[in-house]
Amino acid sequence: MIDFVGNLFNPSPPPPSWSLVTNPDPAARAKLHINRNEFDLAASCTPDPDDNVYRTADRLSRTLGITRSKALIYCDIGTMLTRMPHTRNALACGAFNIDLLRILADLTCTLDDTHLDAVDTEIAELLTPTRPHQAVPGPRILRRQATAVIAAHQPDARPADPEDPELPTPDLSLDFTVDSSDTDYTVFQITLPTDEAIGATRIIDAIAAAHNTSRATAFTELLHGTAGEVKVTLNCYRNLDTGDMHLENHQLTGTAPDTWMRRVTDLTVPSHSTHDNRFATEAQKALIAGVDGTCRAPGCDNPAATADTDHIHRYADAPHTDTREMQSLCRRCHILKTLGLTDYTRFADGTTIVSSIDDNHTVTTVPTGPLAHANLTFDRRLARKTRTRKEHQKLRDTWNYITRFAFQNVGASAIIVDEAPIPF
Ligand SMILES: [Zn+2]
Repeated sequence: MIDFVGNLFNPSPPPPSWSLVTNPDPAARAKLHINRNEFDLAASCTPDPDDNVYRTADRLSRTLGITRSKALIYCDIGTMLTRMPHTRNALACGAFNIDLLRILADLTCTLDDTHLDAVDTEIAELLTPTRPHQAVPGPRILRRQATAVIAAHQPDARPADPEDPELPTPDLSLDFTVDSSDTDYTVFQITLPTDEAIGATRIIDAIAAAHNTSRATAFTELLHGTAGEVKVTLNCYRNLDTGDMHLENHQLTGTAPDTWMRRVTDLTVPSHSTHDNRFATEAQKALIAGVDGTCRAPGCDNPAATADTDHIHRYADAPHTDTREMQSLCRRCHILKTLGLTDYTRFADGTTIVSSIDDNHTVTTVPTGPLAHANLTFDRRLARKTRTRKEHQKLRDTWNYITRFAFQNVGASAIIVDEAPIPF
């Protein structure tokens, strides 16, 4: 049992709760009030299945003084609350704002009655806090988690996720349009699958940072071969048992896992580690980003892959770099911490408690990356490692033959994951 209070005089931890519900700050109380009112409003807008959509939207629009499309959002949320009673109970606390309710209503509207109950139960679990003063998940994380629940129970109701490379099909979505209607500049619009876009963005950003220039200039330098030596490390996380693979925080599907395995230049088996130098190694950074998924500040879902690797305790006070005492913070959130405006405590399971000096209220965030539930302190099984290396080497030889001259400056790393849960 972990004592989340860390207070000798109060050894029993407070019960799990959403931070917004327990925060006494007047602004938090006001927001909670708004959320609860929005919840009640949506519940009161629930249409009967036979109601005419247009007439209902018209009536609500007139009654509430809102647009018809906004009225339909309330109708959709109301319908979800009626169809999914467990979800309704979990949402009634008011921790979730209207934008999050809308995401849930949109994701669950095509579920059929056979699967509804199971999905309802699991989504209600997602919406139930497991830690005291826990931060509500952001829209991206909530969408990803709820989509995974739906996909597990009723794959054909799995919604088209804008971050999903399979839907719509890549053939239809891949595009490179050139708009040269202006005489002074030309606008390119490039559509790529998410995984390729992550790679392209990291490469262009690295060139832009190295040359202290814009992405657009970096792009032209890349095309002309004048980008110079720029090192980019992209981390792939692969689960040996299930074959699941992520590029950073994005799950790879279809042929993408094979493509990325062929690009891999280094393999690492993740485990926690410590050394006396100030800076984290690439393997340590990959491990921390893989656990965290996003910046660990409450309400921030900037990717961990581009976040800073922060020593939770000041290096001067604890001069070592231990992955158990490190976390991902985006630059903005890192600055707030460095200024002393926020204070972080991290537990062995990756749970983090954040307090702000402004109001002393604490908020708990949980890791959401592909390694969040991996056992990182295991004994590695050598046979597995050998097998993986052989398999990888075969793929790599083929790939190297094809791409001898491309991607010379781009490295990808694979982090092999063992899915055994952390013993807590
Ligand atoms: Zn942040």
